[in-house]
Amino acid sequence: MIKHSCPVCQIVGLIAVIGSLNSGLVGLIHTNYIDKILSHVHLARVFDIATIIAALVIVASYFVNCAACKK
Ligand SMILES: [Zn+2]
Repeated sequence: MIKHSCPVCQIVGLIAVIGSLNSGLVGLIHTNYIDKILSHVHLARVFDIATIIAALVIVASYFVNCAACKK
């Protein structure tokens, strides 16, 4: 699915995958790797917001097709 998408959709998909894997790990082993990796550069919160935006974009993609992905 992501393989045949435009670069923007690939990045959005990647952020959503990383964000959801991280959330899953927080629930399973109570370790937030994104927080650990990004907290010293103050980007953990930025990534959290990016994850939410990516999730909303994916929800929107159920209703609207990406213009760049359209063949
Ligand atoms: Zn696209």
